[in-house]
Amino acid sequence: MKILSIDTSCDETAAAVTLNDHILSNITFSQILMHEKFGGVVPDIARRNHEERIDGVVEKALKSARTKIEDVDAIAVTFGPGLAIALGVGINKAKELAKRYEKPLIPVNHMEGHTYACFAKNSKGKPERSILFPALVLLVSGAHTELVYMKKHTSYEVIGKTRDDAAGEALDKAARIILNEHIYPGGSVVERLALKGDENFLALPIPMKQSKDLDFSYSGIKTALLYAVQEMGDKERNLHMSDLAASFQKSVFTSIAIKVRAALDQYNVSSILVGGGVGANEYLRNIVRSEARKHKIPVYFPYSKKLYGDNAAMIGVAAYYKGLKAQAVDIDSVERNARVELGKF
Ligand code: ZN
Repeated sequence: MKILSIDTSCDETAAAVTLNDHILSNITFSQILMHEKFGGVVPDIARRNHEERIDGVVEKALKSARTKIEDVDAIAVTFGPGLAIALGVGINKAKELAKRYEKPLIPVNHMEGHTYACFAKNSKGKPERSILFPALVLLVSGAHTELVYMKKHTSYEVIGKTRDDAAGEALDKAARIILNEHIYPGGSVVERLALKGDENFLALPIPMKQSKDLDFSYSGIKTALLYAVQEMGDKERNLHMSDLAASFQKSVFTSIAIKVRAALDQYNVSSILVGGGVGANEYLRNIVRSEARKHKIPVYFPYSKKLYGDNAAMIGVAAYYKGLKAQAVDIDSVERNARVELGKF
């Protein structure tokens, strides 16, 4: 099944062409530079940029897959969660193309896409993997921190989620506090700084350590970091930026390790899947690998760095697995749903 997929859920305008689970093209236009000076994503700017770029990005995806739109079997689009007015741009474009070229439209949950990034293969079908179910899925990004029990293909039960900030969002905010400047996104800056830092420099609490559930919470440690930095003053802060970054990372990722461990104790799973932008962080990868090793199960990450952050190929691969079972949906019934939860659709 050849699918043209579109994702405009946040600040990336993305289109891709996939053949089953093989990626033929994956084009992402990032708006990061346009939002950087505001220290975060500005919805109106995002919408305008998506509108300006979407046609070109779709065209480029088709061209680099050497495919004509007439030859695709279906069109897939992210309907949520995400920024409502940004989602709308991709949905409108997908509907317009589906109607004009008489193609079925497959709506995909963005987090389902991040999950299926682990199933994506390159155009030659590599890497060959047979992922065993049931699986525990850890989704960590700028907007989400979730643990999902995936019994089989396209079946999801969210078993843990953040009560306030997402892990990626907390890392972005920490970067701003540590560097004392409007920086976006900041997660990779924190990771880089932390490499040279002492993670025991600042004793931050481990969030939700004692809670019996599988939920996360990150706003408390962000505030704890802010108070600690204010108390230190600029000179000390400048001197200890790496130590602060390392201490913050340790707190964020130790809490994830604890919840992954608890989930593995409660649910009998055969593999772990990791999706979302923060999945590229080495500290996180190592702690998940170590938990997986203790339970003697494999852990899978997307095969390419391009598949961690937002992209449309992951939406195409998810749509392929959904399309195998789903009936055709009425094109006009597809609507954005900014806050939809995985498994509730
Ligand atoms: Zn995302």
